[in-house]
Formats: sequence, C-alpha cells, structure tokens
Amino acid sequence: MSNQINEYEKILVANRGEIAIRVFRACRELGIRSVAIYHDVDKTALFRTKAHESYEIGRNRTPLKAYLAQDEIIELAQKKGVDAIHPGYGFLSENAEFARHCQEAGIDFIGPEPDMLEKYGNKLACKSLAEDLDIPVIPGSDGPVSQEAEIKEFVAEHGYPILIKAAAGGGGRGMRVVRNDDELTKALNEAQKEAGRAFSQEDVFLEKYLPGPRHVEVQILADKHGNVVHLFERDCSIQRRHQKLIEYTPAFSVPQQVRDEMYDDAVRMLSEGGYTSAGTVEFLVGQDGNYYFIEVNPRIQVEHPVTEMVTGVDIVQSQIRIEEGYELSSSRIDIPDQESIQRTGYSIQARVTTEDPRQDFQPDTGRIDLYRTSSGSGIRLDGGNGFTGAEVTPYFDSLIVKVISWGRSFEAAIQKGVRSLEEMEISGVATNRDFLINVLNHDDFAAGKATTGFLEKNPWLKI
Ligand code: ADP
Repeated sequence: MSNQINEYEKILVANRGEIAIRVFRACRELGIRSVAIYHDVDKTALFRTKAHESYEIGRNRTPLKAYLAQDEIIELAQKKGVDAIHPGYGFLSENAEFARHCQEAGIDFIGPEPDMLEKYGNKLACKSLAEDLDIPVIPGSDGPVSQEAEIKEFVAEHGYPILIKAAAGGGGRGMRVVRNDDELTKALNEAQKEAGRAFSQEDVFLEKYLPGPRHVEVQILADKHGNVVHLFERDCSIQRRHQKLIEYTPAFSVPQQVRDEMYDDAVRMLSEGGYTSAGTVEFLVGQDGNYYFIEVNPRIQVEHPVTEMVTGVDIVQSQIRIEEGYELSSSRIDIPDQESIQRTGYSIQARVTTEDPRQDFQPDTGRIDLYRTSSGSGIRLDGGNGFTGAEVTPYFDSLIVKVISWGRSFEAAIQKGVRSLEEMEISGVATNRDFLINVLNHDDFAAGKATTGFLEKNPWLKI
C-alpha cells in the first residue's frame, strides 16, 4: 500500500440528519471544508446549516432516491472540488459500487475499500470467514435457502425456533422468526420480499434462533498500514424489532475474560481480511454465556459516541485521517498501540425518535412547536433535525436526537441520562422520551440484566 499522505481540503457528506452533522463537526475541527447535499424536502433541515456549503440534489427524484443518486452526487463532488466523500451510515455507506465509482472519479471514499465492502457486507461470506478463523458462529445454513424443503431439513436437525435472515441485511430488515411449520411459508415469503426491496437481493439464510441473547459488539479501527486496534465493546441489547434503541459501554455483565476473547476475535476477523477504516464486529452472547459472531458493519455506527465518551478517541476524525493515509501511531491519530487506549467510566446512549409508543411506535410527523433539550454535566447531545419550528417529514428514519451520558459508575450514567431526558421538552410531535426514561429507570437495566427480550417482557414500559 502507498505511503503517501493526501490531506483533504474538502469533504462532502452523502447523508443527512444527525450523522451528517457529526461528520461536519469532525471536518470543522480538522480545518476541512464541508459540503452538504439535500433534497428539497430537507431545505429547512438543520444539517444544511452546519456545513460550509450546501447543494440541492435529486430535483426529479423522491427524497430517499436523492440521497442514493450515485452519479449525481459524484458529479457534484467533482464540480465542487471535493477530495473525499463520507457516506455516514445507511444510504450508500455499504455500497461497493458507489465506493468504486468514487475512486474512478478521483474522489476518496471514507470507508473500507470496495472489495472489502463486498466481502464484509455479506453475512454468509463473513460467517464462513469466521469459521475459517475458528471464531464461534450460530448454527445455520451454509448458503442461501429458497425452498421450504431445505428449511424443514434444517429444522429436523436443529429444531424450532429458527431465524430467516437476509444475506445482505441491515437494520433488522428481511428478518423473520419462525416458531413452527405453520409460520414457515409466510415468513419465508416476507423475508425474501423485504430483502429484495431493501437490498435489491432476495438471498436469505437460516440461523438457530437464540432465546434472549445479549448483543455485544466490538469497535475496530484499522489503518492502511496493517495496524488494527479495538476500542472495546458496546452492549446494544435494548432493541425493538431487532433494532437498537439504547446502547452502553462497558458491557459489564459479560465476564471480562469473555470480552477479551471477543476483542481478539474481532481484531482477527478484520485484520485477516485486510480491512481498513472504522468497523464493528457484532456478536450475540447466549444465556449459556457462550458468544457467537453474527456480522460485520463496515461503516460508522449510530452508537459510536458511547465508545468515544469512555476512550476519548474521535472515531469520525480517525476515519478521515486513516483515509488520508496516516498510520494509527502518527501524531494525527495518536494511537501508538493497543495499550494506549484506555477507558474510563460508563456511557449510555438513548435514541430519541418521533415514534409514538402509544401507537405501536408509528412515526409521527408535523411541526415541532417547542424543542428544548438539556445538556449539562456528563451529557453529549448528537442532534438531528430538532429545533422549534422544524418540520418532521415521513421520508426518513425518525431519529431526532441521541442523548449520550457519561458517569464514573453505570448508576451515575443512568442518573444523568434520565435527568437530561426529563428536562427535555418536545411538543408538536410525539416522541418516545417517556418510554426511554422508563427503560433507564428499570431495575433490570441498572443491574445489567436486560437482554434482547427485555421490551417484550416489559410491554408496560411503553406507557
Ligand atoms: P441487522 O444486520 O439487520 O441489524 P443482525 O444480524 O445484526 O441484523 O441482528 C440484529 C438483531 O437481531 C441482533 O442484535 C439480535 O437481537 C437479533 N438476532 C440476530 N440473529 C439472531 C439469532 N440467531 N438469534 C436470536 N436473535 C438474533
């Protein structure tokens, strides 16, 4: 690999909302000019104002398609003298074709190389790489399945419940639990259709469904010179429909020895394949205490701030520096070795969304009449489009602000998070604020006992 350093002067963020703001902030701190793109429905959105420049795209496209319009985005980047594109999460972030087109246009893609996106973006390929490395995986089908007969064969060996999963999956889409033969046909059809719609690829595979596991993931940074470090783990077990709602670090309920093994496996998983940039290796920890690899997320994640809070490492800045060609040990990143990364205290992130817990979490839309958040000691707010007068539209995900707390103990981090949420006032649209407070205040959460089955077990928390 080349030893050349290519310092960026201008970065375009091919995204919107809170993650676009997060990246603009990193750029500004590094003295790099930032460029926003926006669809017409976002013309009054907050993220536009946080970049140095902003340009409308997708005039003849739907809002969602605008942020996926590869050619238009690259053409704009070229016209505006952009050095690199940061894709954020979602949208084009895991799209190898887009990463390749950027490179062909002489623009760096801030993330893994295209062939790495291909390799690590496919859950089945990743599972087989994990098996080659003797990393434990959940029993599952070796390849894609499309026939009921194949599934029944798997069930004859492993029994119900099973999980049908999209090979290219993400965000809990294309995933169905099957508990008996009667549910099978519908679940298979639905999973395939959903996968096709979301990922343009209908491939689904099978896994044994673990009862109430914990979701624990390891954050990795890898430079272009073969250096790979981990930034410890996050517990993301508080989920609704397999989507994360509250995340924290450290995952103190998992024995440290087990976590140490997961760090080793995560580092091996990405270094063996020659991965670069930030990435996350996800595991499930079963009730028997065993852990299993599930997938790699080759991009920045929504929950990255909790890791930043306890380690002091700026993951987004690191992504940019890595892409510019710096070594982790260079003064620009300043991670000479694994031991230099220490963590202090506890951090929790709660995702405030405009979903209404009383209406089965249907996203609400409309004008925010009043928006008052609360920072103060131990609180970081990563905001999206929250301000008094903002329009919440139905086109995108409903995340409005991430409340990230830090405390020397888990209890202190909970207290600060709850305090911030209680002081928060958002009116005009429904939010899940009270629900988040209920979860944080629950004894099982404080004791670190909450697993992925927590919300199903405690439906009253919605009120
Ligand atoms: P996605 O890429 O769509 O987010 P993941 O593979 O990361 O899907 O899984 C998301 C969540 O679904 C996990 O955190 C976990 O709660 C649940 N899950 C996934 N695989 C299994 C499994 N085999 N058994 C039980 N739960 C699972």
